[in-house]
Amino acid sequence: MINANDPSLNSWIEVPAGSDFPIQNLPFGIFRTESNPAPRVCTAIGDYVVDLAVMNYLTLFDELDISNEVFNNRYLNDLMALGKAKTKALRNRIADLLREGNEEAKDLSWHFLHPADKVELLMPVKVGDYTDFYSSMEHATNVGTMFRDPDNALLPNWKHLPVGYHGRASSIVVSGTPVRRPKGQQMPDGADKPVFGPCRLLDFELEMAFVVGRSTELGQSVSTAEAEDYIFGLMLFNDWSARDIQKWEYVPLGPFLAKSFASTVSPWVVTLDALEPFRVGGPKQEPAVLPYLQYDGHKSYDIRLEVAIQPEGGQAQTVCRSNFKYLYWNMSQQLAHHTSNGCNINVGDLCASGTISGPTPDSYGSMLELSWRGTRPIAMADGTERKFLLDGDTVVMRGYCERDGLRIGFGKASGRVLPAE
Ligand code: CA
Repeated sequence: MINANDPSLNSWIEVPAGSDFPIQNLPFGIFRTESNPAPRVCTAIGDYVVDLAVMNYLTLFDELDISNEVFNNRYLNDLMALGKAKTKALRNRIADLLREGNEEAKDLSWHFLHPADKVELLMPVKVGDYTDFYSSMEHATNVGTMFRDPDNALLPNWKHLPVGYHGRASSIVVSGTPVRRPKGQQMPDGADKPVFGPCRLLDFELEMAFVVGRSTELGQSVSTAEAEDYIFGLMLFNDWSARDIQKWEYVPLGPFLAKSFASTVSPWVVTLDALEPFRVGGPKQEPAVLPYLQYDGHKSYDIRLEVAIQPEGGQAQTVCRSNFKYLYWNMSQQLAHHTSNGCNINVGDLCASGTISGPTPDSYGSMLELSWRGTRPIAMADGTERKFLLDGDTVVMRGYCERDGLRIGFGKASGRVLPAE
């Protein structure tokens, strides 16, 4: 059996240098074409999208015994629910079909290969529940410094549990979907009564989200040792935020309408299997965490992250470079904590990391931090400056792992800001 992670594998499909999608990646997504508008499961390689529904129809996955309905599907949920043993075998089989030397598959390629710029990528997961964590110590420290006490920036619970809240699943959209500037209630500085109107302090939050691929029963808890069996893969995640609405509404129960108007995900779910070569240790946790949050081995991943802002009609400009590995709390701890009270999780649930800020000012994962509450505007190439996002700005998040010539990427999570209605 071919192992898709084998670094020596090459494909009969040309993969340009710097591509996010070598044969060692093989993420999963949902696409459709103009000539066949039925949504179906696909993977990416180089500048191509591979129709897995057609591959299955051609009996190329025959020994895996997966029904056509799993692939002729609006979402990946049914595929993920097959379980990791099967989805791992599927990914390895796809690598076998696309590897250099597989002339049989190459001869059939006109059936299943589409140029990526000729397809539409759809929201890949039917998200049941969405949870947002707050797991970057640098981010929590920056926010605590700005809004509370620089000497006690972290609240007393922060190093003892991965703080999170339940978000809104209905407004999660796929990359490319425009985002309307929200309206809401705000208390302007110096005012004595609140106003209602368009958000003036619109922000992005650089995050990643993991997709749950295995359900639990109500009452069941998942340990840190088991957690990765329940995580199918990762996506880029922009948790758009309305800072002025947030500041007025969040006490005492946390963010509500300041976050629920939209979140943007990348269209590809990159599997934990593909990320395996990029495992790293996380930051040292001091003080020691409670036993149910302790873990063995390396549970974090070295994923480079970037955010660019492209003004209307202008050039994209990178404003942030960060890394997933900076997160204080890892995904296994997040999931162990999430289920520690017996709360059940379902296939398709999404857990976002929280804003991923790094140690240096150019690695801060939000405009709130990059412009330090608007006091340090960012100069743009077109001569304008940004404290927060303007109408017409497109925010583009990218992420990739790279080591020893192997690059595993996530594509992009992009969204343009439309004016308030
Ligand atoms: Ca967030």
